[in-house]
Amino acid sequence: MEAKRAPLRLRAPIVIPCDNTCTVLRDAVVDIGADGRIKNVSTADDAPAWTGGVRTMSGILLPGLVNAHAHSSMSVLRGRGGDLPLISWLQEAMWPAEALMTAADIRAGSLLSSIEMLRNGVTTTSEMYFHVDQQAEAVLQAGGRAVLAEAVLDLPGQEPWRAVVDRISSRIDATGLRLGPDERIEFAYGPHSAYVLPPEALRTVGEHARTRGALVHIHLAETELEDQAQRALFGSVPALLESVGLLESRLLVAHAVHLSDADIGLLTGAGVAVAHCPSSNAKLGSGVMRLSALRAAGVPVGLGTDGPASNDRLDLLGEARTAALLARVTSQDPTAVTAADALLLATRGGAAALGRDDIGALEAGRWADLVHIGVDDPAFATGLDVPDEELVANLVWAAGSRTVTDVWVAGEVVVAGSESVRVDRRQAQADVTAAASRLRVPAPSSATSCRCCTRSR
Ligand SMILES: [Zn+2]
Repeated sequence: MEAKRAPLRLRAPIVIPCDNTCTVLRDAVVDIGADGRIKNVSTADDAPAWTGGVRTMSGILLPGLVNAHAHSSMSVLRGRGGDLPLISWLQEAMWPAEALMTAADIRAGSLLSSIEMLRNGVTTTSEMYFHVDQQAEAVLQAGGRAVLAEAVLDLPGQEPWRAVVDRISSRIDATGLRLGPDERIEFAYGPHSAYVLPPEALRTVGEHARTRGALVHIHLAETELEDQAQRALFGSVPALLESVGLLESRLLVAHAVHLSDADIGLLTGAGVAVAHCPSSNAKLGSGVMRLSALRAAGVPVGLGTDGPASNDRLDLLGEARTAALLARVTSQDPTAVTAADALLLATRGGAAALGRDDIGALEAGRWADLVHIGVDDPAFATGLDVPDEELVANLVWAAGSRTVTDVWVAGEVVVAGSESVRVDRRQAQADVTAAASRLRVPAPSSATSCRCCTRSR
C-alpha cells in the first residue's frame, strides 16, 4: 500500500547518499515521488527538470539510520539493574517486571521509543519483543518503519514456544510479510537465544521462516558463559545453529561477541548478518565484537542500540562513534574503522543486515527515508567547505544525533524542529511514567549476584 503525497525536491549544500564509497555531493538534490520513493539523487547542476515542490535545506541530508537490534518497548524499564551482569540482569531485573507487562505497557514503551529514535534520525528499527501488533500500532503512529520479530522463549510459566511460532506464521500468512502504509511494518521470527530454547525449537523456527522468506532475529554469543551447555554439546553456538539448519535462513544474529575464526567462517559461508551493539556490550561488560574480522570476512554488519534498559540510549549515531572507537582501541589501529565506515554501518550496513535493499541509502527506487543534520552547531564551525573526509569526521566524531533537525519517512515529515510532528512527546513520556510505576518489582541487589555465573552468592 502506498499513500499519495506531493512530489518534493529537497535541495541542500551537502547530500551524503551513503553509497559504497560514502560519496559527498555538494549543492545537491533528492527528488521524492508521489509514491514516497526516491526518484533522483544528484548535484543540482546534473538534476533533471522538476515540476514538483522544492524545499531548500541549510545542512546535510543523509538516509534514515537503521537500528539493527532493539527491544524498544523496554523504555518502561529503563534504568533498572544497570549494574548487574547479563544473566542476573535478565533473571532479577527484567524477567520479573516483564511478567507484569501488559500489551498497553508495551505499546506505551514502543511509542515513546519510536519518537526518541526518529528524533535521533533512526527511521527503521529491527525489534525483538512481545505483542507485536501493539508495537506495529505505535511505530505507525509515530510514523516510523520497523521489522518486528515476536520473541520466542521456552521458560517456565510462559506460553509454549510452538504456540508462539505458529502465531507468527499465521500472522504472516494472513497479512503478508510486509504491511501498512509504505510497507512500514515487516514481521519476523525472534527466537531469543540458544540458551532459552531447545534445538528442536530453533530447527522449527528455521523451517517456518524459510517457507515464508522471513527474517530470523536471534541473540548469539553475547557473553562467553551464557550458553556453556550449547558450547559443550556443539562446540559453539554458530555450530549449533548450523546443526539445526538455522544458518540456511535469512538470519540476523545480535551481539556475536564471542566468535572464533571457525565461527566467523560458518557465518560467512552461510551469508548470516550481524547486529553489532557496542554500547550494550560495553555496559554489560560482555566484551567487544570482532568488527574488523567480521567486515574483512564479508559478513554484513549493522549497528544496534539493544534495548533502552540495557544501553540505555536509542542513539545510532552514538553507536557508530562507539563502534569505531572500540574497533580502534582493540586493534590499536586508528585506521581500523574510518568515520565514513562508521556512518555506512549505521545506514546501508544496517539495511544489508536486515536483507533490505529498499532503505539505508539515498538511491533512486529506495524509500525516501531521510535525515537533515543542522549545521548551526560547534561541530560544523570549521564550515561545510572543508574536504569531504573532514565533513564526515565532524558528523560522526563531533556532531552526533543532537544535530538531527528534520526526518522524513517515505517522503512524509515525521520530525520537524527536532520534535515529532505526529505524537505529543510529553504525553508519551507521561504514559511511560504510569506504566513504569505499575511494573515496580523488588529491586535486585548487585551484591548477591556472581559476575561469572548465573548463581547467586
Ligand atoms: Zn537484545
